[in-house]
Amino acid sequence: MSAASQTRSVQAEACPTRLTGWGMTEATVAEVALPRSADEVAGLVKGVGASGVIARGLGRSYNNAAQNDGGLVVTTTGMCDVLSFDSGSGLVTCEAGVSLEQLITGFLPAGWFVPVSPGTRQVTVGGAIASDVHGKNHHAAGSFARHVTSFDLLMADGAVRTVTPESNPELFWATAGGMGLTGIILRATVRLKKVETSRLVVDTVRTADIDETMAYLSATDKDYDYTVAWTDCLASGGSLGRSVITSGDFATIGEVDEAVAAARQALVQTFGRLPAHSAATPGDASTLLVRAQPPAVGWAVAAWLVTHAAQYRLRDVSFAGFRWSASLGGSWTKDRAAPAGAVVAT
Ligand SMILES: Cc1cc2nc3c(=O)[nH]c(=O)nc-3n(C[C@H](O)[C@H](O)[C@H](O)COP(=O)(O)OP(=O)(O)OC[C@H]3O[C@@H](n4cnc5c(N)ncnc54)[C@H](O)[C@@H]3O)c2cc1C
Repeated sequence: MSAASQTRSVQAEACPTRLTGWGMTEATVAEVALPRSADEVAGLVKGVGASGVIARGLGRSYNNAAQNDGGLVVTTTGMCDVLSFDSGSGLVTCEAGVSLEQLITGFLPAGWFVPVSPGTRQVTVGGAIASDVHGKNHHAAGSFARHVTSFDLLMADGAVRTVTPESNPELFWATAGGMGLTGIILRATVRLKKVETSRLVVDTVRTADIDETMAYLSATDKDYDYTVAWTDCLASGGSLGRSVITSGDFATIGEVDEAVAAARQALVQTFGRLPAHSAATPGDASTLLVRAQPPAVGWAVAAWLVTHAAQYRLRDVSFAGFRWSASLGGSWTKDRAAPAGAVVAT
């Protein structure tokens, strides 16, 4: 045992804590422990009382899935190490408490993205498997567990089983979407998705009613990896179901170069020159807003982007507007906030 893991094997202490899910309803009190290692989790489960134990990741479940009134809750966020990465296959092995945000910020600069991303990146890998989360690419990529090649599961008998879809399909698929009821996922191997850039080429359309919405989605389903529709279910009469549908794919380097060149040319035509220090990247209005000098030019450029940039169709994945409209920052209350500074320019 390494010195590090010896230090980590000190038993995690559980403290009475009031918990809710992301919906902030139905609060209950449980003994909450924050183990730092698989050994600590095993120790906690071994000594568990009659009220049992449930795993908890980042608590983004809408309701009370990660609560255990009067019992034990094992929070996995202290187990947040990436253990290995194969840059040939994109396979990453990590502890269950690693968040999707950690994977994205760690691997996107190297050209890898999470295979499935729900509406917030503040979820753990363990939570993503236990809820088998879906993203805006569900029609193309399926849900999260389809991209999981293996996980280690601590079961009620204290045994840790390495489970793959081939070695034990029943246990694998009972755990994927099993909401923590088959055991505690300790670590997992997930296949990341290769991308050329961090930008998306996006098309946005408006539809008049539910029939047109469904017809458009059916017709374009296979054309894009990612699609999301904001549908107006309160509109009355013939407008019921009118939508704004946004569809996109990760941009290639060539597509980004082309769009940036076109945007620069259009900016020069409009303003006579490029604003000083501007990134001049379509879809990146906030960068321009901050950097363009003098400020008046910055505001003019930002206003121009908001009204003109749709034709360049590029958005950065860090932009909250496309897939993370409800997700910002580390605190879950921030999930509720409108994207700070997000001037969506498409
Ligand atoms: C703003 C927002 C947008 C969302 N958008 C989507 C979306 O688009 N698609 C979607 O599918 N979901 C979505 N969700 C739901 C969220 O992705 C899931 O609830 C996810 O499981 C939360 O992960 P977590 O780490 O916070 O898990 P928690 O909420 O802490 O736990 C969720 C469940 O997973 C179990 N669990 C957690 N860790 C482990 C583990 N290590 N081993 C075994 N079981 C474990 C818990 O027991 C519980 O049953 C969204 C949530 C929010 C707040």
